[in-house]
Amino acid sequence: MADTLTETNDPIARMRAIRRDIHAHPELAFQENRTSDLVAEALTRAGIEVHRGLAETGVVGTLKNGDGPVIGLRADMDALPIEEQSGAAHCSTHHGVMHACGHDGHTAMLIGAAEALAASRNFRGTIHFIFQPAEENFGGGKRMVEEGLFKLFLCDAIFALHNWPGLPAGRIAVQPGPMMASYDSFTFTLKGVGGHAAMPETTKDPVTTAAELVLALQTIVSRKISPHDPAVLTITQMHGGHTFNVIPEEMKVMGTVRCFSGEVRDFIRAEMLRVAEAVCGAHGVSVSLAYEEGYPSTINTPAEADYAQRVASELVGAEHVDTGFRPSMASEDFSLMLQEVPGAYIWLGAGLETKPLHHPEYDFNDDTLETGRDLLILLATNFQNGIQERT
Ligand SMILES: [Zn+2]
Ligand SMILES: [Zn+2]
Repeated sequence: MADTLTETNDPIARMRAIRRDIHAHPELAFQENRTSDLVAEALTRAGIEVHRGLAETGVVGTLKNGDGPVIGLRADMDALPIEEQSGAAHCSTHHGVMHACGHDGHTAMLIGAAEALAASRNFRGTIHFIFQPAEENFGGGKRMVEEGLFKLFLCDAIFALHNWPGLPAGRIAVQPGPMMASYDSFTFTLKGVGGHAAMPETTKDPVTTAAELVLALQTIVSRKISPHDPAVLTITQMHGGHTFNVIPEEMKVMGTVRCFSGEVRDFIRAEMLRVAEAVCGAHGVSVSLAYEEGYPSTINTPAEADYAQRVASELVGAEHVDTGFRPSMASEDFSLMLQEVPGAYIWLGAGLETKPLHHPEYDFNDDTLETGRDLLILLATNFQNGIQERT
């Protein structure tokens, strides 16, 4: 690991080496020990004050240069439980684990930005470099916040990048309002009366009831919510029964809900239970709903999104900055941080050829490292007057 950090002094080649090193050694949620060590070592070598231990493997580097506003720049460090099929030379060496979302690239870009800013010190104020664990599913960002991230490291605004396949390399997309949807998961448990498959009249069949429930749930989004309020309710699992000739006593129906507004989110949740009780009640089957709120929608605050847009325009030219686009129905843990501190989540074009995120053949596009790093640097150096004076 130390070899990677000393291999070359060329900052771009160095970022690429760090990115590929992390890619070859992916780590799942809250197990990012090697990655966390690498980040801490790189920041320490750059003369940046390092704090460790928030959400287990979280790292926060702090760089001060006199009085001034405080900006937080965040990267995620975790990988996914996917067997890599990219065929890259720096392919994952950990069986069944890979960086399929580019968090290796995000980490490398933020290290690159931290090193450059520590060397140039051409900013006024304080920069917190926030490296979070467990973005995928396990809420590492939420845990960092709960463990005092923004009490220990007060920020006036926070920013994060995510590489975006399908958006041409060299383009940047950011807008005020929603960028990503909320992500909740749910499990219905239907309890009927099991029995002989040949004598259905002696049972209360949870299988046919579950089939009706799946269809009835589809009318919540399609019939009860305005088409102007995007929402998705998807059933992803149905479990029940063990053999051909027995009607089971229990069925489980599971899935996910995605949307952009808190109101719609609350409405869907309440309506799901109402519909389920009505459908199951009609067939003498009892039902319970375990609804787990995951990530809220990722909402950029107007002033900070506007600031990020102007910084991006300065870097790549306004003609290469997208705004007013459709938000993604995927979700993002940075949303929890944005509930605490104003800020913006920014998409960095990963190129049209790059495989989709979470695909087994995905690999972060190293040609975008420099643009991402420079965007982070510019967000920090231009921030010295704060957001207000620049809007
Ligand atoms: Zn992901
Ligand atoms: Zn991601």
